[in-house]
Amino acid sequence: MNDCIFCKIAAGQLPSGKVYEDDEVLAFHDIHPFARVHVLIIPKMHIATLSDCLPEHQALLGRMLWLAPRLAREHGLDAGFKTLINTGRGGGQEVFHLHVHVFGGGDPVRKS
Ligand code: 5GP
Ligand code: ZN
Repeated sequence: MNDCIFCKIAAGQLPSGKVYEDDEVLAFHDIHPFARVHVLIIPKMHIATLSDCLPEHQALLGRMLWLAPRLAREHGLDAGFKTLINTGRGGGQEVFHLHVHVFGGGDPVRKS
């Protein structure tokens, strides 16, 4: 877990383009954006994937999703945006710390 890049970002040990932070959640710009706006929302606690979420994580998941339209609005995505959660290797997940992609604007490149 200590090698987890998003845990390091959450702990302030690695720089990130932070756009939101509260006691449980952090959001920052994706380092390789696939749209004009591309933000990642992560829990500060380490949860590897959506499949690892437990009943006690329901409020945390709700907070992350609730944040998505707010961040999209703040970044000018008034016409709408996309959300994406890749889960597991078969789901295309590369960083095994739960994150919600929020992106839109420009010509989004589809990530398969
Ligand atoms: P996944 O494929 O796991 O859903 O997406 C991981 C995302 O994390 C990718 O879009 C990738 O660009 C982004 N990412 C990986 N490492 C870093 C990093 O060190 N900083 C930031 N800001 N984004 C990262
Ligand atoms: Zn982590």
